[in-house]
Amino acid sequence: MSSALEVGVLIGELLPLLGQLQALLAEPVADATTGTTSHHKATGSPAPWHEEAATVLLTIHEEARRLEASLLWQITGELPARRGGSDRNTRAALAVIGNLVHAVPERDARGALHIVGRWIRNARQVKDIGIEERWQPAWPSGPGELPPKCPYCKTYSVRVATRAGLVVCINRSCKDGKEESPRGRLERSSLNGDPMIVWNDGRTITYRRDWA
Ligand SMILES: [Zn+2]
Repeated sequence: MSSALEVGVLIGELLPLLGQLQALLAEPVADATTGTTSHHKATGSPAPWHEEAATVLLTIHEEARRLEASLLWQITGELPARRGGSDRNTRAALAVIGNLVHAVPERDARGALHIVGRWIRNARQVKDIGIEERWQPAWPSGPGELPPKCPYCKTYSVRVATRAGLVVCINRSCKDGKEESPRGRLERSSLNGDPMIVWNDGRTITYRRDWA
């Protein structure tokens, strides 16, 4: 299959994902606190997947317009009329990309394929975490167990996506050692299998399985 045809196929896959990401944005924020057990109040911050869905959607909105413009410029030497920011406009830009990509050299079609492929990977990742796996406040070592306190803000704002092995702090004012929102990976100690979090700034914290 030529790269141009593949772009068309990928755009067909991307369209329903856009709708699913939009749906994640519309979800009530209260979902974030499901499963919270006891003496600490949930922070009421939006769930991390809202932010991630918004970021991915924005990237696709912007880059689709840029890709459309660059393909059109290459073929006609003209820039398209500026599109507004709506989802409908993004879909229109994607449809135009699917056509224009047939009129550029294979090398450029491959470039477009690479970009659309990245959109799909990012969209799937957010969708999988947002829909198929919730960020849970519960620590995976046992039902009803509280997550550990966040090592940065010292609140119970740590959320875990067990299957994806990801950890975040949902306290919006919380910053890690790199002044970023704390994110990390859930791992097991190679010494004794105890759960540990490897945070993005390099901090690693191991938790004893019988911690209380
Ligand atoms: Zn924190």
